Amino acid sequence: MKSFKVTEFNAPLTEVDIATPKPEGTQVLLKVKAAGVCHSDLHIWEGGYDLGHGRRLSLKDRGVSLPLTMGHETVGEVVAFGPEAKGVAVGDVRLVYPWLGCGKCDTCLAGDENMCIVKPNSIGVYCDGGYADHITVRHPRYLIDLKGLDPVTAAPYACSGVTTYSAIKKLESVLDQPIVIFGAGGLGLMALSLLKAMGGKGAIVVDIDASKRKAAEEAGALASVDGGAPDALQQITSKAGGPIRGVIDLVGNAATAALGFDCLSKGGKLVVVGLFGGGAPWALPLIPIKAITIQGSYVGNLRETQELIDLVREKGIAPIPVTTRPLSQADASLKDLQQGKLVGRAVLVP
Ligand SMILES: [Zn+2]
Ligand SMILES: [Zn+2]
Repeated sequence: MKSFKVTEFNAPLTEVDIATPKPEGTQVLLKVKAAGVCHSDLHIWEGGYDLGHGRRLSLKDRGVSLPLTMGHETVGEVVAFGPEAKGVAVGDVRLVYPWLGCGKCDTCLAGDENMCIVKPNSIGVYCDGGYADHITVRHPRYLIDLKGLDPVTAAPYACSGVTTYSAIKKLESVLDQPIVIFGAGGLGLMALSLLKAMGGKGAIVVDIDASKRKAAEEAGALASVDGGAPDALQQITSKAGGPIRGVIDLVGNAATAALGFDCLSKGGKLVVVGLFGGGAPWALPLIPIKAITIQGSYVGNLRETQELIDLVREKGIAPIPVTTRPLSQADASLKDLQQGKLVGRAVLVP
């Protein structure tokens, strides 16, 4: 099997050819049909995140070891499985749920493997992922039936889809009022369509890029605001026309986190999703005085991913724009993403 691996942080991916592995036990071997190139792959490739205040989170220190085949947005077709794998058949086309944990701790057993505190095992982060022509998954329970959804446009639901879905779920009790979403890139546009499908009132979208604000308005945002405008806060509150109880920050830098916090009314909740990086900008006394909840949201669990796929099918949610690339262009696609040259999401098709 052929794969494209990170062998050194920040260096070009290496093409590796090995014998295709034979699945054992409960393992399932899939032939990759689509592998999304996600923005977080850039962080893995670069080896870490900026934590602000001059600090950096090193993925090496967090247990990411090389060589690694990235790719956590994978759809594949089952080609073989171990003797203990039940509920799969050769030819099944499945979305791979990638956010695996140890599978044994209380958190994992409660269904929140993405939050495992013992040993994260996320596919494409801690173990080999979809930038390859084949992928091995440790148990059929992580394979979600697409029931006819297009593999290429469904692949990103494993990451950007469930990330936005899980963030919106954290504001479930306030969706009858307008919420504020920071970031009108791919995640922001997905959030708008999911919000609508989930019966939400809608969102005011904040972005510093005029073309992205326009895209958000076309995608059904209640209004959009330039986050860089000197009166951005006043614009957001006046466009909301009432107290703002929920904010989703899909960017996650000091400026968006500050504005997101400031526009919340008392008792509101700020859900931080974006990993742009930087230091926390809030004045500590205002957190208790405004009784604000600041909640992080990291991807989503298996149940949420299944709910999302059902929602997409039932509501006929329009797919996000994707650009398909041959697997051999994995490295070039990452570079294009890094330089902001990609239109829509790149999906590698072996
Ligand atoms: Zn665990
Ligand atoms: Zn991702």
